[in-house]
Amino acid sequence: MKWTKRTVALLAALLLLAIAAQAKGPSKASPRAGEAASLIREEPAGEQLRKIPVLPVLPKTEDDVTVKTLREEQNASAPRFSTLEPEPSDAKPAAPAQTADPKPAGTETAPAPSSQEHAPEDPSAPKKELLFPEAEDWQILLVNPWNEMPEDYEVTLKSLDNGMKVDERAYDSLMAMLQACREAGLAPKVCSAYRTQSKQTYLYNNKIARLRNAGYSKAAAEKEAGRWVARPGTSEHQLGLALDIVSTSYQSLTKKQEKTAEQKWLMEHCWEYGFILRYPNEKSEITGIGYEPWHYRYVGLDVALDLRDSGLCLEEYLLLREEALAEKDWM
Ligand SMILES: [Zn+2]
Repeated sequence: MKWTKRTVALLAALLLLAIAAQAKGPSKASPRAGEAASLIREEPAGEQLRKIPVLPVLPKTEDDVTVKTLREEQNASAPRFSTLEPEPSDAKPAAPAQTADPKPAGTETAPAPSSQEHAPEDPSAPKKELLFPEAEDWQILLVNPWNEMPEDYEVTLKSLDNGMKVDERAYDSLMAMLQACREAGLAPKVCSAYRTQSKQTYLYNNKIARLRNAGYSKAAAEKEAGRWVARPGTSEHQLGLALDIVSTSYQSLTKKQEKTAEQKWLMEHCWEYGFILRYPNEKSEITGIGYEPWHYRYVGLDVALDLRDSGLCLEEYLLLREEALAEKDWM
């Protein structure tokens, strides 16, 4: 009986060993992987890296990871080459001046932007030149579906004849624009100006409720509502810098508004008074708001004219402006 117990124990032990040995079997692959890894480090990047993705038979997700990791390694190795390239240009006569700059560490990267800069300068010449004039922060404050207005934003308001209010800093320009429009024989009407948070919340919830009544799911209604009524905290009307202006003879906020003489006049002249048509047609993907041929935003005269000449919407313009100013800081 003891023998059989022992035999069983031995057999069990042997079985375990056999299993362990089998488990070690596939680990033959790991030296291979290690080999590959060491090859990556030792040999020049290019060819080896390209071969690696073919080697392992891995599940798709892991394969993706591998490819990604390799791309990262390629990218990591790329700077080595690009830092080599500027070296010859460093040898150019310009180099001594560069090294004289008070940025010894930055000298390697500095030549790259400046040499790139010369190339785009030519194609950019025929384009309308953007001036990126100085502007006050509040004038170009970006408020959109992705940029909520600052919580502590404060504005001093001034009342219009109809009791609506605007930021007092935009008041005179608005009056001048409306006056000129009237002098052209037209009848513009401001139908929305400054809104409080609670007013915006009411409008937003109201829009959602109407969409839900029309059969939209909760999520779909919220998404669609956000295209037409800004989520509370993301409306320029809360800044006191946005105005909805319609024709007195046609007051519906629909695309047809663009056909009115008042709207045609405003679209042509608003810029001259520091206002922009904020949500132009075919820019909805960028602004996050559908075409609104009645919504004007005050940005100040210089910026407005720059925007008019560029044909860009505010989001596009501010992005380029940021880049341009950052580049200026480089110089
Ligand atoms: Zn509006």
